[in-house]
Amino acid sequence: MIISDNEQSKNIKSLNDEKMTPSITEFDMTFESNIRPKTFDSYIGQTNLKNMLKISIEAAKKREIPLDHLLFYGPPGLGKTTLACVIANETGAEIKITSAPALERPRDIIGILMSLKPGEVLFIDEIHRLNKIAEEILYPAMEDFFLDMNTGKGQSLKTLRVPVPKFTLIGATTKAGALSGPLRDRFGIVHRLEFYSQDELKQVVKRTAKILNIDITEDGALAVAKRSRGTPRIANRLVKRVADYALVKYDGIVNEKISNEALDNLNIDKYGLDATDRALLALIGEKYQGGPVGLETLAAALGEDSKTIEEVYEPYLLQEGFIQRTPRGRKITPYAAKILNFKYDSIQPSLF
Ligand code: ADP
Repeated sequence: MIISDNEQSKNIKSLNDEKMTPSITEFDMTFESNIRPKTFDSYIGQTNLKNMLKISIEAAKKREIPLDHLLFYGPPGLGKTTLACVIANETGAEIKITSAPALERPRDIIGILMSLKPGEVLFIDEIHRLNKIAEEILYPAMEDFFLDMNTGKGQSLKTLRVPVPKFTLIGATTKAGALSGPLRDRFGIVHRLEFYSQDELKQVVKRTAKILNIDITEDGALAVAKRSRGTPRIANRLVKRVADYALVKYDGIVNEKISNEALDNLNIDKYGLDATDRALLALIGEKYQGGPVGLETLAAALGEDSKTIEEVYEPYLLQEGFIQRTPRGRKITPYAAKILNFKYDSIQPSLF
């Protein structure tokens, strides 16, 4: 049975929510589950991926086997978790959601595998952070649906093969390159999620506004979409902030002017860049004369974690052509230098 978008998805069990996302409050969780699409029809964009998945799901149904294991990669907020929930819903399966840091001890991964129901989807976020032991427990479970369990000690040590129900593993990662080769090879489908176009984000904004009873014009929705860094999670966050602003300062209706004013107030510029993005660009562009600058140097100067810079900030800046990655570090592009008005005293043409 497919659960419609308006119904709460009761069959989603989030086993390790606290461990996964310690900073997310209960309010955020409810907000998330209210606005999270539950069907392919309400999941906006990622058209190629959705078409491919529909065929794989149909084929698995005809063959009466579970869907192949899937790996989704791409920056945070692009809809990897949401898509895993959509797949479970569309295949009528339950889903268990966890993340690699919550599977530190062998008994964590064994426990979750043993608790699966036939056909269930197991979603592991940040799968590149699985430790070696957990990975090795996972391999036979993924390939042949059994676990190798050791019992006894010394000479009486025996390995038992314990069957696990046939399941589909969906892994998500922001860093596909950090996944071990053997783990990556065990996924039948590996797919990157793309940043969303402005038109797609506008649809995300309008959909969320409708669910939250926010009155927003077409232009107002587009203005939010333009500054959402190609990311639905950001679009959803901004539409709430903009609606708050419209309610407090105006009559509650979000139009283009009010959207832009609210977003300016939030310090998000017309390119969708926030204060950290601009600080990062100014560091490379001004202090380091266009670069190249090493990641660790940037992280230390900004007081940010290098992983956050690499996995959260950089993908959008690279995609939009603000920076370039080179073996010697990050460089500003001529495009960014021009629009952000970086002035170099001793600019070197070879920099670009
Ligand atoms: P990820 O797992 O890639 O970090 P999520 O799946 O948690 O991202 O998505 C973040 C939020 O963005 C979700 O609350 C969801 O409502 C929204 N979202 C993501 N993808 C889409 C989409 N394709 N259509 C509509 N909303 C989406």
